[in-house]
This record gives sequence, structure tokens and C-alpha cells, in this order.
Amino acid sequence: MEEKTKSHRAAGLERVKKWLYAKSLEERGAGCVLCGSCYGHGPANPMEDHPGFKTKCPPYEFYRFQRFTPKSRWLMAQRVFHGLDPITPELKEVIYTCTTCLMCQEICGVRNDGYGPWDIAVAMREEITAQQGPIDAHRPLLEGLQHHNNPWALPKSRRGQWAKGLGLKKLGADKSPTLLFAGCSADLPSGRAGATALARLMKQAREDFVILGEEESCCGLYASDLGFRGEYYRLQQENLKVARQAGIKKIVVACGSCRRIWQDYPKEEMEGIEVLHGVEYVDRLLRADRLKFNKPVRRKITYHDPCHLGRGSGVYEAPRNILRSIPGVELVEMERNRRWSWCCGGGGGVPEAFPELSQWSAQDRLSEAGRTGADLLLTTSALCLRSFAQHGQSRVPPQELLEFIYQAI
Ligand code: SF4
Ligand code: SF4
Repeated sequence: MEEKTKSHRAAGLERVKKWLYAKSLEERGAGCVLCGSCYGHGPANPMEDHPGFKTKCPPYEFYRFQRFTPKSRWLMAQRVFHGLDPITPELKEVIYTCTTCLMCQEICGVRNDGYGPWDIAVAMREEITAQQGPIDAHRPLLEGLQHHNNPWALPKSRRGQWAKGLGLKKLGADKSPTLLFAGCSADLPSGRAGATALARLMKQAREDFVILGEEESCCGLYASDLGFRGEYYRLQQENLKVARQAGIKKIVVACGSCRRIWQDYPKEEMEGIEVLHGVEYVDRLLRADRLKFNKPVRRKITYHDPCHLGRGSGVYEAPRNILRSIPGVELVEMERNRRWSWCCGGGGGVPEAFPELSQWSAQDRLSEAGRTGADLLLTTSALCLRSFAQHGQSRVPPQELLEFIYQAI
């Protein structure tokens, strides 16, 4: 991980060139060895005890051509870096179908420094942006970030509306060492329930906290994952400046993707600032006896691990601990759970560029939820909820976990 922190200012293939050279024997061993583990069609990863499920990379499972595998994206980046291949529309299609599910990063055994096949695909996106600009489907997201610090181009006047009527304190007018970071989706239907429920839960716990309201900027998720590295650094630095100047010590986020991005900010600049998702916050309340569920909720529930909260942040048990502590709740797992959780198809700008792939991945997950016999599907990421709401048909309705928790109190 140290390597990653050191090079956090670079962009494009230059940023990952060490893994594209393959000149010395040492470097060759540190590049893709074509084992195929990342898409579930190779031998078991030699670094792994458990090979996991065969279905790993959503674009590969959808298109079923070798070029859509994580290893192919790595090899393509290598060839472009060495000037062997130009950036063509066909190459761009492969690079931009990655849903940023982080499965290949999880399973690839050749890198232990924070880099892996996914990072290299993202660096390839940065290279494409630098040489040719964003793809058409992603241009509005970039412009939204540039002009409004928001991928959906919501102007300041329309931001922070989610908090209306909740009586929350705002940074600037008030101070506190704890910040509730709502995320850009809080002002959209997909994120509103999570942000408002988290605020209510924190109020109920008598937590002293502030929000940023209309002053909140994107954490940098879209900028990071779609290859707008310059925008990502800008947002990262602006967010860090706000947090440090206000003396923030704890940031509680309402979305799984915000959790991953804040955690990825340079460690030395995050010193003294703790980041946790709402479910980790609630789990702590439970463990400290500051929260108790008394009324029975007779539901059969299955939980979808969002890629960025699970594989991206390592948060698997907090949501399950909470659900197990609600009397009457029966928790049933989907076959692919925790680190093997199947992607909803909602990340990486795929819904904007390849809606049919995104739709298929969401539908696949909803079908899996249906096979558990659950009557409710809980998750806690605005991207997953948007994906399930827009693309899937399910006999198991999806709901934001934080909202469910608040209703269960
Ligand atoms: S990217 Fe990693 S897991 Fe995939 S084929 Fe290459 S070495 Fe194996
Ligand atoms: S992050 Fe997921 S979608 Fe992207 S290449 Fe890796 S396994 Fe495939």
C-alpha cells in the first residue's frame, strides 16, 4: 500500500508503469501471470485457500469473450504503454465495461501493494481521458464534477435538501468533531433514505455532529473510477481541507462508495481522522449498549454486500451483527456473500455507458436474492439501490439497511 500512497499525484499509465515494464525478472514476476483466477476460469489462485465462485467478473460473464476479462485489460494497458497498440473504440469498450466491482483486485495474487488488475484498468481510463477525453456517456459526469462538484450536476441550490426539517447542525454556523458526510446521492431517491435514517439514528444516540449541507462536495468516486484523476485529486484535497480546518476527527458516511473513497485518501493526510459507515457506527452503538432493539420485526431478510463497502472497505460483519440483534429477523445469506458478493452492475459508469450489462448484473443478483426465499433485500449503498430500482425486477423488494434499522427501533 505504501507504493500507492507515494504515487498518489501521478496519473495515467505512468502511475502504474512499474507493472507494465516487465523488463527485469523481478518486474515480470510482479505482472499478470495469466492464471485466470480473476475471472474464475483459471486454476485456483496459488495465493488463495479458497478459489471462490466461478462467476467473478460481470463484463466477462455477460459478453463471454476473453477480451472482457481483467487479465486482458491488464495486457491491453501494457501494449498501449509500450506503443504496440493504439487506443481504439474496441479497446475503449473493453476498458469501460469494468463495473469496478473489485473482485479481480480481491483475488489476484500477484500484487500485495494495493495495485492489481483493477487499478491498472482505471489507470488505462486515465490514459484514455488524457489522450482523447472522456467517452461520450461519461462527459456529463465529468462536467457535473467540474462545474458543481457533483456528478449529476446538481447545483448548490438543490443540494442538502435531504436534511430539510431534520433540525441538523451545519458546519460553519456550528462546530463539532463529528461530520455526517451524506454523499451526492443523498439528494436523489437512491440515497435520501440512507442519509436521513443515519441522521436520525445519530440524533437518537445523542451524537453531537454537523453536516455540510449545500457545501458538501463529491467524495471523488466517479472522478477516481472513471479516470478523471485530476478532478479526483482536486476533490480529495478540497474535502481534506474542509475536514482539517474544521477539526473533524470522525466522519460517518451514509454510502458504501463514500466509505471506500474516504478510506483511500492518503494516510498521512488523514491522520487523526476516522472514517466509518453508518452500519459500523450503529454496530458500535449496539456493542456499547447505547442502542437496543426491543420490538420484534418478523421478516426474512437477505443482505447484499455492496462491492465498495465489502471488498473495497472490508466491512462485512457490522450489518450482519445489527440484523442478528433485531428480534424476529431471520437472516438468510445469498450463495455469493461477503467477499464473493455479486456486483449490482451500478458502478464504474457502466449504467451510463453500457446499460444492458448493468441491467443484467442487477437482475442476476435479484434472482439470487429471490432464491433465498427472503421477503426483503437490504443493502447500504446508493449505487446498489439505484441499480436494483432501475434495472431489476424482483419478488424481493430492496430497501436501504439504515432506513430499516431506524424503523426497527
Ligand atoms: S490479473 Fe491476476 S488473477 Fe488475473 S490472470 Fe493475471 S495474475 Fe491471474
Ligand atoms: S473490477 Fe470487477 S468488473 Fe472490473 S475487471 Fe475486475 S472483476 Fe471485472
